[in-house]
Amino acid sequence: MVKINENYLKLKAGYLFPEISKRVNTYTQANKNSDVIKLGIGDVTEPLPKACINAMSKALNEMGTTKGFKGYGPEQGYGWLREKISENDFISRGCQITPEEIFVSDGSKCDSSNILDILGNDNLIAVTDPVYPVYVDSNVMTGRTGETLQNGTYKGLLYLAINEDNNFLPEIPQNKVDIVYLCFPNNPTGATITKHELKKWVDYANDNKSLILFDAAYEAFIQDKDIPHSIYEIDGAKNCAIEFRSFSKNAGFTGVRCAYTVIPKGLSGQNSKGDKVDLWPLWNRRQCTKFNGVSYVVQRGAEAVYSFQGKKEVNSLIDFYMENAKIMKSKLSTAGFIVYGGDNAPYVWVKTPSGKTSWDFFDYLLEKANVVGTPGSGFGLAGEGYFRLSAFNSRLNVINAMERIINI
Ligand SMILES: *Cc1c(COP(=O)(O)O)cnc(C)c1O
Repeated sequence: MVKINENYLKLKAGYLFPEISKRVNTYTQANKNSDVIKLGIGDVTEPLPKACINAMSKALNEMGTTKGFKGYGPEQGYGWLREKISENDFISRGCQITPEEIFVSDGSKCDSSNILDILGNDNLIAVTDPVYPVYVDSNVMTGRTGETLQNGTYKGLLYLAINEDNNFLPEIPQNKVDIVYLCFPNNPTGATITKHELKKWVDYANDNKSLILFDAAYEAFIQDKDIPHSIYEIDGAKNCAIEFRSFSKNAGFTGVRCAYTVIPKGLSGQNSKGDKVDLWPLWNRRQCTKFNGVSYVVQRGAEAVYSFQGKKEVNSLIDFYMENAKIMKSKLSTAGFIVYGGDNAPYVWVKTPSGKTSWDFFDYLLEKANVVGTPGSGFGLAGEGYFRLSAFNSRLNVINAMERIINI
């Protein structure tokens, strides 16, 4: 009989969101007149920018003509899109990232998992706790961790707690780790990292020949001048970091699918003999073999994000969600909650009151306010005692949800 990849059996059951649905369903079944507002899901809610729609309509019509038809595109993405990305997201911020170093893809979720294809199996890997679960689970699936421990963590991974005590900044490990995943602005905590703090990580990585996998999916939400949008704003980062970017959260492409990964030329690892090997050709080879590119239509849509009109529309989307976050933060603070995040990220990270567990607070908000959020403990052990509320929703829902919470 066919043998399965037993690493999958180590995975904790996809427990968080099914459990949320189950509890919401049970509650709404028992309370037929309840009108639950969901601030739990990390997905955008506003329609796509017109600039993107127009560009995609035009591209689609081109494809319907003999002259404009396009088959497979370059696996790395079209040159015109990679040039716009290089210019607007990097050169304009003083980062020397060339179009060649940019690999367009259909999502950061897959890129941040697929990257493991080009990295060895015996690297020591560090993640923050709480964490975006994709980083952990993709390591489990590929056999890079040991067994599941009683408390739900995996043997072999180094967990760096982020909490109030360290201002939601992971402490630099005493010992050497080979790979570290950093996500800033952070999902789920909404925390950010300053250039000064990020420089410490870049120096650590260069000193220890480690690799930083930097997820900047939420960079567009940054409001403060001092916070880097890209890790390449830090000197030395081109020698130690890969960056993941996505059009999902800034331009609302979660259902359209376009993202990109930066692999700097000259970024290297080593083979078992200890010889230096560049990562760029490995990722290029990986993509050319396993990926056939993002659709032409979608790439034209992504290109429009960088047009004058596109930038304006993306800015107003960001402003809209950040105004939601501001309302949430100020109302919750007024109601006496201790609230983190929400200033440079679309997530508000609430400390559960009177020592309630994350799940107790979930039930409490569901029953008393008919508001649904995400229990922090679902993102890791150190998320216990916290609760994530997402600013991705309509203004009306946000205002109503806050009124209900205040009036409990
Ligand atoms: C939403 C999100 C992404 C984007 O993923 P896509 O696959 O590009 O939609 C990446 N990282 C984090 C932490 C996210 O929350």
